[in-house]
Amino acid sequence: MERYWNKEIECASREEMKKLQSERLVAQVRYVYDNVKYYRDLMDAKGVKPGDIRGLEDLCKLPFLSKADLREGYPYGLLARPLNECVRIHSTSGTTGRRVVAFYTQHDVDMWEDCCARAITAAGGTPDDVCQVAYGYGLFTGGAGLHGGSHKVGCLTLPMSSGNTERQIQFMRDLGATILCCTPSYAAYLGESLHEMGLTPADIKLKAGIFGAEPWTEEMRRSIEKSLGIKAYDIYGLTETSGPGVAFECSAQKGMHINEDNFIPEIINPETGEPLPDGEVGELVFTSITKEAFPLLRYRTRDLCVLSREKCSCGRTLVKMSKPKGRSDDMLIIRGVNVFPSQIETVLIANGYSPNYLIEVDRVNNTDTLDISVEMKPDQFSDKVRDMQLQEKSLASAMKTMLGINPKMHLVAPKSITRSEGKAVRVIDRRKLHD
Ligand code: ADP
Ligand code: ZN
Repeated sequence: MERYWNKEIECASREEMKKLQSERLVAQVRYVYDNVKYYRDLMDAKGVKPGDIRGLEDLCKLPFLSKADLREGYPYGLLARPLNECVRIHSTSGTTGRRVVAFYTQHDVDMWEDCCARAITAAGGTPDDVCQVAYGYGLFTGGAGLHGGSHKVGCLTLPMSSGNTERQIQFMRDLGATILCCTPSYAAYLGESLHEMGLTPADIKLKAGIFGAEPWTEEMRRSIEKSLGIKAYDIYGLTETSGPGVAFECSAQKGMHINEDNFIPEIINPETGEPLPDGEVGELVFTSITKEAFPLLRYRTRDLCVLSREKCSCGRTLVKMSKPKGRSDDMLIIRGVNVFPSQIETVLIANGYSPNYLIEVDRVNNTDTLDISVEMKPDQFSDKVRDMQLQEKSLASAMKTMLGINPKMHLVAPKSITRSEGKAVRVIDRRKLHD
C-alpha cells in the first residue's frame, strides 16, 4: 500500500494545486520585491511591478535569476529577512565554481525537512525504520536535509555522515539499518565493500535507498539494487532552493515528483529563455513560493530534464521531472559533438563494467581527444594483452554507436580509480587548463 506524508497536498487535484500556487506566487513576488533590492532592481529593469503578477499565468513575465546573480550578491545580496531571524546557513558543494551560500529561517528548515519526510515516506519509511544517513554533514545540504526528514517521519536516525566505509557496514549490520541515504556513487562503493567483506544482502536488513545529489543512470540503479538487495529511489534538490527533497521518487521509480506546493517548476529553452511545453527537454527553472530567508524567483538550475503530468501509479498528482541528464554545463562538446557523461556510464554498465570510470578530455594538435578509463571487475581481468585489446576495441565501438565519436578506451586494474564518498568527480577537461 502506498504511503503518503501529506496526502492532501501530494494527491491534490490540478485545480486545487494551481489555486494554491497562484495565491502563494502573488504573495511571494510582492514579498521579494519589498525585501530584496537585488531582485527589485531586476524587475524594475524589466518594467515588471508586483501588481502585474496576478497568478500562475503571469510567471513568465518575471526576470530570471542565475547562479551568476547569486555569486554577485554573495553573501547577503539576496537575503530577504534580517540575519537575527535566520537560524542556518548551508553552501553548495562548489562543483562548478565559487560557492553560493543560502540562508534559512526556522520556517524554511521545517518546510525543507517536510519535503524530505515526503521522500522517505514514499520510499516506504515509517517509525519502524532505521535510517542510516551517509550523506556528508556540514555545509553540504545532504546530511542535514535527510537527517531532519528522518526525524520527522520518526525513523531511528543513524547520523553516520560519509566516509569510514567499514564502520558504515558494521553499523548497518549491528544496528539493523533498513534505509540508506547517500550519493549513488557512495552507495555503489558501499555495495562493493559489502561483498569484499565476504557479506551478501542477506546479512543486512536494508530495504530501500534514497540516493541523489549527482546524476546517475538507470544502469547504475540496477547495479546498486542488486549489490545491496534494495529498491533504490532518486532524490533531487539544490542548495539554492533548500537542498535535497525538492523532488523525490515514488514506488513507480519513473521520474521524481516535484513538491509543487513549495516550488513551481518551468522548463525553458536554455538559449532563448522561452518556456517549453511538458514533454520537451530543456533547462529546469524553479520559483520558490514558501521560502522566507532566501526566496528565489525563476532560478535557472542549469539542469536539463523533462516535465510530465501523466497519471502516476502511486496516486500522487505532483508533476514529475525526469532524471536530469546532467547540467547544461556538464555537457562536453568534443569535436563538435555533444557528449553527456551519463551516456558513457550507460554504455559501460550495460556492457558489464563497473561504475568506476574516469573521462579525460584534452586538445592535441587542435583536435579534441576523449580518453575513457574503466576498471575491470576481477573476473574480467585477463593476463593476455591481446584479449584486453579486443575488449577495449569492442567497448570503443559500443561508445561510437552511442556518442557518434570514437573514444580511446583504457581498461584498468580493479580498485585503481579513486572511490567517492560524496559527489563523484568523473570528468577531467584539460582543455580548460590551456585556455
Ligand atoms: P553544487 O552545484 O556545487 O554541486 P549542490 O550540492 O547544491 O551544489 O548541488 C545541486 C546540483 O546537484 C543540482 O543542480 C544537480 O545538478 C545535482 N543533482 C542533485 N540531485 C540530483 C539527482 N538526483 N540527479 C542528478 N543530479 C542531481
Ligand atoms: Zn508516483
